[in-house]
Amino acid sequence: MATLHNLGFPRIGARRELKFALESYWKGETSRDELKQLGTQLRQRHWADQAALDLVPVGDFSFYDQVLDMSTTLGNLPGRVSGFHGDPLDNYFRVARGRSGLFDPQHALCCGGVAAGEMTKWFDTNYHYIVPEFTAATQFKLDASRLLEQLAEAQEQGGVGEGRAKPVIIGPVTYLAIGKAKDDSDKLALLERLLPVYAELLDTLAAHGAEWVQIDEPILVTELDADWQHALNTAYHQLKACKVKILLATYFGQLQDNAYLAANLPVAGLHVDATSDQAGVLPLLGLLSPHKVLSLGVISGRNIWKTDLTATLDWLEPIAQRLGERLWIAPSCSLLHVPVDLDSEQKLDAEVKSWLAFALQKLGELRVLGRALNEGRATVATELATNTAALAARRASPRVTNPAVQAALARIDASLGQRKSAYAQRAPWQAAILKLPLYPTTTIGSFPQTAEIRHARSEYRAGRLDDAGYQAAMRAEIERSVREQEKLGLDVLVHGEAERNDMVEYFGEQLEGYAFSQFGWVQSYGSRCVKPPILFGDISRPKAMTVEWITYAQSLTKKPMKGMLTGPVTILNWSFVRDDQPRSMSCRQLALAIREEVLDLEKAGVKIIQIDEAALREGLPLRKSQWKEYLDWAVESFRITANGVRDETQIHTHMCYSEFNDIIASIAGMDADVITIETSRSDMELLDAFENFQYPNEIGPGVYDIHSPNIPTQGHIVQLMEKAAERIPAERLWVNPDCGLKTRQWAEVIPALAHMVEAARELRAGA
Ligand code: GLN
Ligand code: ZN
Repeated sequence: MATLHNLGFPRIGARRELKFALESYWKGETSRDELKQLGTQLRQRHWADQAALDLVPVGDFSFYDQVLDMSTTLGNLPGRVSGFHGDPLDNYFRVARGRSGLFDPQHALCCGGVAAGEMTKWFDTNYHYIVPEFTAATQFKLDASRLLEQLAEAQEQGGVGEGRAKPVIIGPVTYLAIGKAKDDSDKLALLERLLPVYAELLDTLAAHGAEWVQIDEPILVTELDADWQHALNTAYHQLKACKVKILLATYFGQLQDNAYLAANLPVAGLHVDATSDQAGVLPLLGLLSPHKVLSLGVISGRNIWKTDLTATLDWLEPIAQRLGERLWIAPSCSLLHVPVDLDSEQKLDAEVKSWLAFALQKLGELRVLGRALNEGRATVATELATNTAALAARRASPRVTNPAVQAALARIDASLGQRKSAYAQRAPWQAAILKLPLYPTTTIGSFPQTAEIRHARSEYRAGRLDDAGYQAAMRAEIERSVREQEKLGLDVLVHGEAERNDMVEYFGEQLEGYAFSQFGWVQSYGSRCVKPPILFGDISRPKAMTVEWITYAQSLTKKPMKGMLTGPVTILNWSFVRDDQPRSMSCRQLALAIREEVLDLEKAGVKIIQIDEAALREGLPLRKSQWKEYLDWAVESFRITANGVRDETQIHTHMCYSEFNDIIASIAGMDADVITIETSRSDMELLDAFENFQYPNEIGPGVYDIHSPNIPTQGHIVQLMEKAAERIPAERLWVNPDCGLKTRQWAEVIPALAHMVEAARELRAGA
């Protein structure tokens, strides 16, 4: 009998209930009890959704972030938030979101002004976690309350019977690996202090009825040096004595060189991602000791395509024969990364819909596989036949293959990605046209998506507002942002992206080869969700997508207006992509389509075009050995998109929080005239990479964090820019926020930008 289980369930809710509850709590509109109540309801619902599984995850629910939860469990919240009076949940949100003294004058000195924890991407996903902070002096102290509450809840009200509740935690080695030593001390030196707390946690969970605990160590699918390999050995040999059975979970890729290590750790079970590494499973069988459970992730927890159930069974049945009771099956990773329920979709194209599976459908597939293994294929013959038919229809659909796109792809050559002149030559021509001051000021693109904008959009979608009414509402918003920017005295303006629900979906909706869902939300961080469009076929652009909005915005002002596009790599990385062709090929198709838009903007007289590549870095494979291949096609795609313009047209690009050291040559290879980056939380240290590389083009290092409501002071911005100017010549610096302002309120944006513009004036005066 194969055991069925799941590694984690999306917690945001099929209708994003958690998002709305969090946001209303943060605004003070609902009470803490109401928020907690909603958490309870969601957990109950999600356990009910997983009722058919043998083991269900517990503790995968989080009010903000599972890594921050783990930091709380380990008593490792940053010193700056500990010791505050007030509710623990509020302190938890303080680390998550930061808190400005300005908003809370009474508490400015005690718990008012607190910097948010740094956020970064969870492995190669688009989920952002709060980075654990360490110093050489870090001590850990167990706080098992969250896990114990959820465990009791699962067992008492959740209908999760004795032994079926499987607490999920992040493993000690991954926890250290993904954190940051604030004092550059050796994180691994903390392992010795950390392990007793893990041991105490495991024993506590055992004492409260947990038989199995899932410990996530996705770090095992990355390249590990000897010290980190040693740390894994140390950790699990020490935890071996605990009274629970450990399922060590790895996911997001292949074990490769770590297979021997993973197979030999003294744990009761090992989970591997068989969707990324089918070939690695058979050799692993030979390495595993004969009592160990092997859990195979046979359904992708990362994409939204139906699994080929028959092919999976053909492969799985002999393994099930060999392993018997020791075989577990599950999705490859937590389902956090996929939307909840395909059945919610009312408007999704029926043909495309028939090819898809969201979290609940994936659990359905798992049940079919389980029955086929445990009771024979005949018991699920209908389900298997339906699945096979859907996959065959997808392969044969003319909507997937477009011969004209294939032909254009075949014609791509190196000249397509080449600017006419080098940066040094074209920069003075651009300067002569744009006539910008030293330290020019700009923003990254979006202005607040106000309640009015969202209302107009939902009315429009519901058919209660016609085209003309919607256009007028968006034009009014564009005019408002242009007026505000002029009042503020910014140098290069943006139209504000009012008409865009999302920087990727907006383009996806206008491109052929894309489908989009109504409720296909996936958590990005905290209460923020994204709804990745679904790239299912060859990509083409039926008509111009942004030209009317940008030319309208330009007509309102004499200042230069940036044309604003999302780049091909980012569109790709933030979409659900095809599993039937390489990512590189989908990316080149996107590049050709966006290139046409760039050229149309230029033809319409737009002098600055920004092509956001916010997600370029997050597409990097987890293993360094595969980076070059990715960077080569990613940079080539950007160049195809951007570099067809005349020398006089200034190309900007933007990248969100990113380390640049190890990809700086590729960033330079993009050859954008200006790159704006997210740097404020790093205190401009990220610019070291640009300085060391002698990056030749212009840079706008972000001067304030847009993820938090804090308003930066003029003095702080000047200080940051002075640090920037120590690294990059002032003539090549721009002044801008870290990222777009869509999630902020105008009441925050105006004073923040006013301080920014004043700071730029102060810098010019001092130059
Ligand atoms: N232009 C986009 C905006 O301002 C860029 C967002 C991003 O980089 N994530 O919202
Ligand atoms: Zn950004």
